Amino acid sequence: MIPSEARITIISGSGISKASGIPTFRGKDGLWKNYDFMELATPKAFRTNPQLVWEWYYWRLGLISQTNPNKAHLALKSLEDAEYDIVILTQNVDNLHERAGSSRVYHLHGEIYKRRCIQCNDVSYWDASADFENPIVPKCTKCDSMLRPSVVWFNETLDPNIVEKSYSRLQETDLLLIVGTSGLVYPVANFPFIAKQENRQIEIIEFNIESTPLSSMANKTVLGPVEDTLPKFVFEIIKDS
Ligand SMILES: [Zn+2]
Repeated sequence: MIPSEARITIISGSGISKASGIPTFRGKDGLWKNYDFMELATPKAFRTNPQLVWEWYYWRLGLISQTNPNKAHLALKSLEDAEYDIVILTQNVDNLHERAGSSRVYHLHGEIYKRRCIQCNDVSYWDASADFENPIVPKCTKCDSMLRPSVVWFNETLDPNIVEKSYSRLQETDLLLIVGTSGLVYPVANFPFIAKQENRQIEIIEFNIESTPLSSMANKTVLGPVEDTLPKFVFEIIKDS
């Protein structure tokens, strides 16, 4: 039984997007035209060849725009509909949580549907009419400099405001759901510790296809595809409320 005033925080990772058909960019999944993910998602790659990096992002945007939120995304939205206080901290750069209808989503690694000017930092949304077949390096409408994807690349730091907001939320959370993340990447690897430090009563439940380094922090780990396990769990909460 979860009290109706419970603050519920979700950490979501690539496992929840994978169920919608988005590649996880690990192993064979990460290859595009024989380039590895790690060779493209870096500031150096963009300095060296912005056209190539944008081609890769056009390809990914094209892929993501053909996918839909799955049962796990929709389950989180139904918790919000049942008037629970929900915040989602996601490592995913896609907008599937938003498309499912979730209203409070913090994107730790940025958002692929946003672009940022390398000169004046102006952030704008992707033009919905963009031609994914003909990639060009987009230009800032304010200063004519190059735009880059507004995501966090390897060797870059996370937006400190988002990290700060995430920490505050974790410290006041009653129930933490860790969904589809390997828990290997910082700061997410630290999140359960931060949540527990100030907050000994917190309950942590993990949903993943396999155990992770975070499993030892969780009260319970539910193994299996998150698009099956999470909706079942959410349905039980809503039924009891
Ligand atoms: Zn600009």
